[in-house]
Amino acid sequence: MSNCKAELFGEGWKRMKEWESDRIHIRNLEVFGRHGVFPEENRLGQKFTINAVLYISTREAGLKDDLTKSVHYGEVSHYLTSYMKEHTCQLIEAAAEQMVRAVLLRFPAVEKVTLELSKPWAPIGLPLEAVSVEITRGWHRAYIAVGSNLGDREGYIRRGIQSLNAREDCVVERVSGLIVTKPYGVEEQPDFLNGMIEVRTLLFPEELLDALHSVEQEADRERKIHWGPRTLDLDIIFYDDCVVDMERLSIPHPDMGNREFVLKPLAELAPYLRHPLTGKTVGQMLSELSEP
Ligand code: AMP
Repeated sequence: MSNCKAELFGEGWKRMKEWESDRIHIRNLEVFGRHGVFPEENRLGQKFTINAVLYISTREAGLKDDLTKSVHYGEVSHYLTSYMKEHTCQLIEAAAEQMVRAVLLRFPAVEKVTLELSKPWAPIGLPLEAVSVEITRGWHRAYIAVGSNLGDREGYIRRGIQSLNAREDCVVERVSGLIVTKPYGVEEQPDFLNGMIEVRTLLFPEELLDALHSVEQEADRERKIHWGPRTLDLDIIFYDDCVVDMERLSIPHPDMGNREFVLKPLAELAPYLRHPLTGKTVGQMLSELSEP
């Protein structure tokens, strides 16, 4: 990959656009299911229909005429059919949510799925054509800063990464080197070990934050002093190119531009990634921070 291409499009250029525009459609798949809030719906079951859109780059499969480079729509259809038969939910919202997650986990080449689950015989005593729920879910890419300055620092970081990766909805794809850094904020404390991980996740930003807090808890983390010593600290730096501005969560991390211990390991993984608000690349931010 030439640097100039990467610089033009940002780190995501490889994943850029194709899978956003390439789709495989499964239309009006008739399936049997027992979803419903009425007991007789759960007992007797009824017909449902599924429309699914699978977002996957078909470029390589198209050029090579090779099914292994795509997703087998027959397999996905059979999988959806079995999933509907084997699971029972009250709500079609729940059935759709669970089914999309199962498809994304079972067929990892699919980046995103839009699924419409329709219930043509919804028992509401009125002549409606069908009622349906449509949702879109997919894989997201997050960069998470890891740090520790208490006890076995590297051990805490390694175990934290393993614990996050053990979740089926979080795949740790890349890990930067770890660097020793001086404490930031409160200076009277041991040196830190810092790094960055790139994670492919199905979790929404707040859910990811909750997952990171659980991993921190497993590392005997105590929240005593703000910016104080900690066994394990996990901060979300980027989540796709999303901007999140909530009381408990800000993405991109608001202080990232001032933290060399964030930018250095991030630049190792993704130097051309752009900040969604300033448009600056990580490499640029790092060199600006180093300027006198
Ligand atoms: P700390 O003591 O540095 O780990 O502070 C963590 C707190 O900052 C968490 O309880 C979050 O609610 C909040 N926070 C805000 N934005 C972020 C972010 N991008 N990543 C992690 N924590 C965040």
